[in-house]
Amino acid sequence: MNKKLKVLFVSSEVDPFIKTGGLADVSGSLPIAIANEGHDIRVVLPKYSAINEKFTQNMRHVINYTVNLDWRVQPVDISEYEHKDNEKNKGIKCYFVGNDYYFNRNNIYGEYDDAERFGFFARAVLEMLPKLDFAPDVIHCNDWQTGIVSVFLKDQYKCYDFYKNMKSIFSIHNLRYQGNFPPEVLNIIGLDYGYNNADALEFYGGVSYMKAGIKYSDVITTVSETYAKEIQMIEYGYGMDGLIRKRSDVLYGIVNGVDYDKNNPETDKLIYANYNKDTLDVKKYNKEKLQEELGLPKRDVPLIGITSRLTEQKGIRLIDEAMEELLGLDIQLVILGTGEWHFEEMVRYMQSRWPEKVAVYIGFNLEIARKILSGSDMYLMPSLFEPCGLTQLYSYKFGAVPIVRKTGGLADTVRQYNLHEKTGTGFVFENYTSWEMMNAIKYALDIYLNHKYDWIDLVKRNMGLDFSWTSSAKKYIALYKKVISK
Ligand code: ADP
Repeated sequence: MNKKLKVLFVSSEVDPFIKTGGLADVSGSLPIAIANEGHDIRVVLPKYSAINEKFTQNMRHVINYTVNLDWRVQPVDISEYEHKDNEKNKGIKCYFVGNDYYFNRNNIYGEYDDAERFGFFARAVLEMLPKLDFAPDVIHCNDWQTGIVSVFLKDQYKCYDFYKNMKSIFSIHNLRYQGNFPPEVLNIIGLDYGYNNADALEFYGGVSYMKAGIKYSDVITTVSETYAKEIQMIEYGYGMDGLIRKRSDVLYGIVNGVDYDKNNPETDKLIYANYNKDTLDVKKYNKEKLQEELGLPKRDVPLIGITSRLTEQKGIRLIDEAMEELLGLDIQLVILGTGEWHFEEMVRYMQSRWPEKVAVYIGFNLEIARKILSGSDMYLMPSLFEPCGLTQLYSYKFGAVPIVRKTGGLADTVRQYNLHEKTGTGFVFENYTSWEMMNAIKYALDIYLNHKYDWIDLVKRNMGLDFSWTSSAKKYIALYKKVISK
């Protein structure tokens, strides 16, 4: 059956328009991979004021309407942008839900009225469809910001012919962020108090948008097979493991892919000089330029990169614990990130104490992120949990070998290096301890320093790995077909 599917992909962040993390990378590249397979997939996201003018100026206004939220009547204006990032790809339609009151804010999340903002977004998305005369077979929602879409669809819209056959899929990119709010938000978004019930949206005294997505969608996915198993356990379930176990018959793990048109050292315009696996000397040049730009001495020592949110999830605590031992080694460490203030302070302290060894950039900077990839020998990801993780996949392509904890997507995409068999793709440790992390780092350093040819071999092999979206996109398409046929 080669039916052309109609899919609406709903996300709160989409690269290149707006990005705070991996969700944007996925939302920016998975729909394109699905469109390339011949399907009509369209993307919808809020029109935040932070979206760059170069996009907003090229948007076409398509429709206006109003949405009722309790007693409020809120205007919506939908703009369309034909997103085609290169000639090879099919262009896809992206719709932007505009409303100045909700989306002209300093932050994209973390506002006092997020429940209302994303409740509004969900309703605006569903109301938009008949006005555009677009009736998707599947509405694919992502993370808590879009969780409430499935509730509205199932309980308030399916009674209308237009919506009757639509199915919903909910993808969990990170179960830790749940969108939990006081029950009073139900009134505001137009759901009655009956939803404040353990069988509906109630979650430890509040209501949860994540729970909404998990409970009310036809199918649930998450971004790696291991994470799909982990979130059914108490350690990783953040209170939702019981609910997820109950729905495990419709839970699927599909690992994220990489868009190699955007993440490729051969073509990347942001790095110092382009290279591939046959021109690794140019990678050395990138390392020297990175050292120069970040104020590190130009020395030929192993350079470990970290680009990460500085949060508990990312294992920054292990670096804190191992700091003395780690920086007692003859290495350099480059850290780019923002996050919890105590971790920001900690990495700043490391820089001030070991200025010859540590360079820190606090902030969110796509250019520096690429430059670090191009200049690093290794990439450190000691995550407490990691739904998929993308940086390890990027680091393969840029010739930086990942050092990771065996959890979630890291467990699925990084295989332990074995010097004798010359197999594996990185350095993996199992338990969340700084001791195990240091062992993995020391093993990596040993290969780098004492087995140079094997190291180069490993780097070249990794640069040839293929984690492109094609195979995962096909898995999503198969899942769309399965849910439609139910
Ligand atoms: P998560 O979504 O949990 O933050 P992922 O590894 O899935 O982690 O994706 C993170 C994405 O955000 C990657 O593309 C990474 O390079 C990018 N990123 C994270 N922190 C920064 C930062 N401070 N500056 C630039 N890019 C960043």
